Amino acid sequence: MPVAQESIESGVVMDCSAMQSLIASLLRIVGPKGLVHGADLSMRLSGKPQRAEVLVRPADTGEVSAVLAACHAAGVAVVPHGGLTGLVHGADSGPDEVILTLERMRRIETVDTSQRTLVAEAGVVLEVAQAAAAAACLSVPVDLGARGSATLGGMVATNAGGNSVLRHGMMRDNVLGLEVVLADGTVIDSMNPLVKNNTGYDIKQLFIGSEGTLGVVTRVVLRLLEAPCGYGTALLGLPDFACTGPLLRRLDQALDGRLSSFEVMWPEFYRAVSTPPAAGRPPLSHDHGLYALVEASSRVPEHDEGFASILSELMEQGLIADATLANNERERQALWALRDDVAQLRHAGPLVAYDISLPLADTGDYVERLRGAILARWPAAHCWAFGHLGDGNVHVAVHVPDLSSDDRQVLDSLVYSPLQALRGSVSAEHGIGLEKKSWLGISRNPTEIALMRALKHALDPTGVLNPGRIFDLQRSGGQR
Ligand SMILES: Cc1cc2nc3c(=O)[nH]c(=O)nc-3n(C[C@H](O)[C@H](O)[C@H](O)COP(=O)(O)OP(=O)(O)OC[C@H]3O[C@@H](n4cnc5c(N)ncnc54)[C@H](O)[C@@H]3O)c2cc1C
Repeated sequence: MPVAQESIESGVVMDCSAMQSLIASLLRIVGPKGLVHGADLSMRLSGKPQRAEVLVRPADTGEVSAVLAACHAAGVAVVPHGGLTGLVHGADSGPDEVILTLERMRRIETVDTSQRTLVAEAGVVLEVAQAAAAAACLSVPVDLGARGSATLGGMVATNAGGNSVLRHGMMRDNVLGLEVVLADGTVIDSMNPLVKNNTGYDIKQLFIGSEGTLGVVTRVVLRLLEAPCGYGTALLGLPDFACTGPLLRRLDQALDGRLSSFEVMWPEFYRAVSTPPAAGRPPLSHDHGLYALVEASSRVPEHDEGFASILSELMEQGLIADATLANNERERQALWALRDDVAQLRHAGPLVAYDISLPLADTGDYVERLRGAILARWPAAHCWAFGHLGDGNVHVAVHVPDLSSDDRQVLDSLVYSPLQALRGSVSAEHGIGLEKKSWLGISRNPTEIALMRALKHALDPTGVLNPGRIFDLQRSGGQR
């Protein structure tokens, strides 16, 4: 009697012999180096939120195409894996799903210095792409804290943002072309190298931010920029939140488009990352209303003096209460390390992390009200806020002792529900994945969601690519 297993999300039930025959087909496609299953797979996935009968490691686009065609024919769901740094459980998988990792597709094909583009396979890790660009005195416009593991394919799939969106935009603004394999194995070669190409629908944009639900990204053409010669980086103490709007505008005006980061830390966050057990002494005192890490990048070496004098003027105008400037790369890295040291928050216990965006003018009130509501409900809770405020993006991390699943529902509602009236977003840059799909309706209206479903149905009619991520699939036999 065949043993049936049910996938966590798809509800697909598959008997063992059908799975064994699919594994045999996959082995023929990718060879023994390209397939992991049995005890080796259990060991590899141990302690991780993924289950699967088999993991495939295709070596090129042809193999990705053949793997998808085989899974499509067998009606088995496929979950693409990049560097597994995603924060919304989009790459979690159930026992009846096949994991497809791009880890053997890590070739940088070209860095074209005249076109200023990088062409690479989707499994290339961001840091490696950055190093290849730097070797040609160029830079990758998108940077983020997970640069040592996040892959170009995963970043395309999640439309990653990061630390310099203010100046250079998200992946959506920097990808020129893509190669994508559809659910049935069809390869879409849309490796456009041009900045301007208004010839019909912009196909790549359909896949950027689609979280692996419409196709597997296999190759990428990325726009590159001239590498900056230097940075002006400063940590600022601000009197209060009301200063942020005017400060952001005046800095941007005075720096003539060179402002690349405007990161804000609320006082609770700054205290947590600048007091023991965190390393080092606080660069600014703990009594400011808000802290901003600002950075300008420049292609001319002698801009430092200008940066310092702009900050002095803004201090005279009362928009900045105190400031410390990085005098060299080591000091610059130390200031960024403060902003990136989210691990300090974990000393309090397990965290729930949110990634929301809303209009800047509403953000100060929103954070104060949210903190008040959380502490009123759970007096022993902690709530830290920080983030890419220049893009209207706030990360909120919350620790509630002994958080139950009912508590989690209430907490999610406290964070997300006010965003609807403010036209905010439940996910500024991390995507929806499995984690936020029940809140999608806060940020997207029913006609938008219906159009998303129609696109999914058109490109993946049998629902084998990352089913149940972003939204549940509606089928005649129920939801999937
Ligand atoms: C310390 C840290 C800092 C971070 N900072 C930022 C930040 O500043 N900005 C930001 O936007 N994010 C940030 N993230 C989140 C994360 O790094 C990004 O979402 C990143 O783009 C995920 O890339 P990945 O290769 O790890 O993808 P994965 O985690 O492996 O996958 C993410 C999703 O994409 C799908 N996917 C992966 N590869 C492909 C592919 N080739 N084709 C189709 N679908 C695919 C997966 O199925 C999954 O749904 C951070 C994460 C960490 C841990």
